[in-house]
Amino acid sequence: MAEQKRDYYEVLGVNKNATDEELKKAYRKLAKKYHPDANPDNKKEAEAKFKEVNEAYENLSDPQKRRMYDQFGHNGPQGFGGGQGGYYSYSTSGFDGFDMGDLGDIFSSFFGGGFGGRTSSRANNGPTKGANLRYDIELTFEEAFLGVEKEITLSREEECDVCHGSGAKKGSSVETCPTCHGTGQIKQVQNTILGQMQTTRTCTTCHGDGKIIKEPCENCRGKGKVKKSVKINVKIPAGIDDNQTVVLRGEGATGSKGGSKGDLYITVHIKRHRIYTRQDNNVYCDIPVTITQATLGAEIEVPLVDGSKEKYKIPEGTQTGTRFRIRGKGFKNVNRNYEGDFIFTVVVQTPKKLTKEQRDLLVELAKTMNEQPPIKKKGLFG
Ligand SMILES: [Zn+2]
Ligand SMILES: [Zn+2]
Repeated sequence: MAEQKRDYYEVLGVNKNATDEELKKAYRKLAKKYHPDANPDNKKEAEAKFKEVNEAYENLSDPQKRRMYDQFGHNGPQGFGGGQGGYYSYSTSGFDGFDMGDLGDIFSSFFGGGFGGRTSSRANNGPTKGANLRYDIELTFEEAFLGVEKEITLSREEECDVCHGSGAKKGSSVETCPTCHGTGQIKQVQNTILGQMQTTRTCTTCHGDGKIIKEPCENCRGKGKVKKSVKINVKIPAGIDDNQTVVLRGEGATGSKGGSKGDLYITVHIKRHRIYTRQDNNVYCDIPVTITQATLGAEIEVPLVDGSKEKYKIPEGTQTGTRFRIRGKGFKNVNRNYEGDFIFTVVVQTPKKLTKEQRDLLVELAKTMNEQPPIKKKGLFG
């Protein structure tokens, strides 16, 4: 078990609505405070704090990561909590195990490798994972109940077919950047109030690529990737609930420099149903019955969500508002092997139109029981 992590906002001492500017300010202040060089007496502790601050900033300064964090907290998109807003994840690429991204970037760009043995090699010109993408999908109640496969179309960055990601025009050469000698970074030692501090900056000649493309690929203008509209089949498991998210690993944007692809997060929204409602894995609905069915008892047909009908015997003297439960006919639980129940409420309908014969019969009946029942103290239908 990982130890309990502190809330990122708490770590930075800002509130949840903090602007990017406020985040940056808080981060700078704390990074200075906990910089190991500024804390020679308790380096270990400062390092730990510094790490924490960096991680918090790394996650909150990236709008996408921040959204994810706001929605799912530290647990991120792994596991599938019960209740709402959990994750159901599966992989289309066979890769398993979720990667919450590199925590290294910020360290290395700030420190240039003087920290915890990390080197700066991955700062800007190492492989970068592609962006995660979000998609919202609307399902009918029945689709959520039975599970469904949907084809969605989305626009995402893919490797350029023409240059296969290199960004260079066919036949043209890619040269090592003369300014940074291919590292993508320029190291500088600065004298600051904290003493000497080594900083690493992205090389401005090659913008961190370490390479200079003489003649850029015309198809992607040297980026190595292009936006494409793609169709993806999404399997939505039976029992998925409103606001739950399906994760398709490797279906996000393409990575850079050999980095893995991002992931695709599909959040499910379920339309309201005319007659059914859902609570947890149970389905609820009202079933109208006649006064004679309620009075004499009857076998009624209950329409289930899957379209089938279940015969159910309601007993003699059933009162309006009585609830009956058909076990195991509710929603499947997405994670565990069990189903909720189908719970229906009997609503006795008083006839508004009668034939003469029915009316005469009722009048006869009334003569035998023409007395208002006593009002009971407790319980509406006693
Ligand atoms: Zn290209
Ligand atoms: Zn360079």
